[in-house]
Parts: sequence; structure tokens; C-alpha cells
Amino acid sequence: MDEIKELLARKMMEEDNEELASRFYNVGMDFLLNERCWWCKPEVKEISKEMMYVFSLELNEGDATDKVFRFKRKMEDNLKTCGGCITEYVIGKRELREK
Ligand SMILES: [Zn+2]
Repeated sequence: MDEIKELLARKMMEEDNEELASRFYNVGMDFLLNERCWWCKPEVKEISKEMMYVFSLELNEGDATDKVFRFKRKMEDNLKTCGGCITEYVIGKRELREK
């Protein structure tokens, strides 16, 4: 948890640092794949929100693609099993669009 939080804080300050961004996405994917709830816990939600950009990234490495696939599946499962997460997810999506 500490590493990903630190990466998120740095990423907010260094928006143009691509290396940092890709590191954040890699660590973030591993982190979220081990979390049961992505949205109803405020601390995790901040990370999930930022991770939503993963879906718009071009990923060329074969193993990254597999991971992104697992990541999406995991998110769908999470949203099916927790009502609190669905509510927060909808709010989070709206906040993203207004950014
Ligand atoms: Zn939840």
C-alpha cells in the first residue's frame, strides 16, 4: 500500500513523467488485483480512479495485455459483488469526466 500511495503522490506532481506513470500503472495493477474492494474504501478509491486511465493506454507487451484483461475482469467481479463499490464507481466516473 505504501509504495503505490507514494507513486500516486509523485504522479500528481510530475504529470509529464511517463516513466513514473508506467511504473504507477504496473504497481497499481498488482495492488488492485489483490484488493477485494476497489471503490468503497476511500484510500483504495483514489488509486482506482487514477488507474482508470489504464483502459486508454496502448499496451504492446504480450504479458501486459494479459494483465490488463485480468484487471478488467477483476473490476467487473468487484462491481457485481459490492453495492457500496457500485455507488462509488458511478460517482468516480462522473468526477473523472469533469476533470
Ligand atoms: Zn466494496
